[in-house]
Amino acid sequence: MVIRDPVIQREALLPPHMPAQNGQHIDYKLLTLVRTLPKIELHRHLEGSVRLETLIDIALKYGIEMPEYDPEMLRPFVQMMPDENRTSQHFLSKFSMLRQFYRSNDVVARVTREAVEDAAADNIHYMELRFTPMALCNVTKSPLEDIVALVAETVCETAKTCGIQVKLIASMNRHEAVEIGEKVMKAAIANMHKGVVALDLAGDEANFSALPFRGLFQQAREAGLGITIHAGEWSGANSVWDAIGNMNAKRIGHGIRALEDIAMINVLVEREIVLEVCPSSNYLSGIVDSLDNHPLILLTDHDVLTTINTDDPSVCNITLSEEIVRTMTHIGLTLEDIKKYTLRAARAAFLPNSERDALVRQFQAALARF
Ligand SMILES: [Zn+2]
Repeated sequence: MVIRDPVIQREALLPPHMPAQNGQHIDYKLLTLVRTLPKIELHRHLEGSVRLETLIDIALKYGIEMPEYDPEMLRPFVQMMPDENRTSQHFLSKFSMLRQFYRSNDVVARVTREAVEDAAADNIHYMELRFTPMALCNVTKSPLEDIVALVAETVCETAKTCGIQVKLIASMNRHEAVEIGEKVMKAAIANMHKGVVALDLAGDEANFSALPFRGLFQQAREAGLGITIHAGEWSGANSVWDAIGNMNAKRIGHGIRALEDIAMINVLVEREIVLEVCPSSNYLSGIVDSLDNHPLILLTDHDVLTTINTDDPSVCNITLSEEIVRTMTHIGLTLEDIKKYTLRAARAAFLPNSERDALVRQFQAALARF
């Protein structure tokens, strides 16, 4: 199978004098090195991992009207650009166009397959890919449980072909009905044997508490699913309290605004809660004013367990290797730090203990060679 190489392709599009994506220069020599590192991604959304070329193919096949049919011209409509308004609303607006593309189960399978191929091409060895079943079946009207099974089966097949280990996290939105969440939870439990390992709550945390979903997440936990909650991104430390106190989250999506309350930081440390930090996404959605001021190191210095992730690689126009390079050039991490972050991510994987221990040993051995 030919695996498309998104990094090389994007580099080829950039004249040498141009800044890399999103107005941030990137050190290509360092990027070459980081691409060879075995990597882990714990926080990546399927719906934010769609190739531009695929969008155009789907639009032509299904007669979807598009503002542009050239990948470079289409880019500003579905990706954050350097000169754009960096707000959460604007960041989310990119998904409104993306949502109309899931016209058939074939499209869902293709997007899933390519997301796994792209991760493998970036030398990610273990990934927990999250997906929002409701978003994928909104247009097709396929039963939600069928879509969950389809994504799980496609991931299994593609991961085997590409030589990457991929597990799934089923996601629901807190601004949507609890009844939808209940369907997602049940489908996630029914597909645990096909690689669904956790449940995630995403959506508008500024205006919606996680509390109405508490019962669903308790059932999921009792069934053996891991729990991760988006919090402390578009809302402050209170939202992180909500995620841990009410929802029993073991991992937090983002969580960087926990720093607004030192008592919250102490709880994160005491309970060994892992933050899935996504620096470029935080910058592009206006949570931090620059990557140089991102609090990743500050959190780590407070002994909070932090990991490095992309969130939405296509919307942010970034690969995990590029994200890591930015944490080195803008935030100040060293290669030795990156190895520690990678091992920390391995220890935070939503896997049974024996499989997680094996994953950690696998990464320890692979990283020792660098
Ligand atoms: Zn996210």
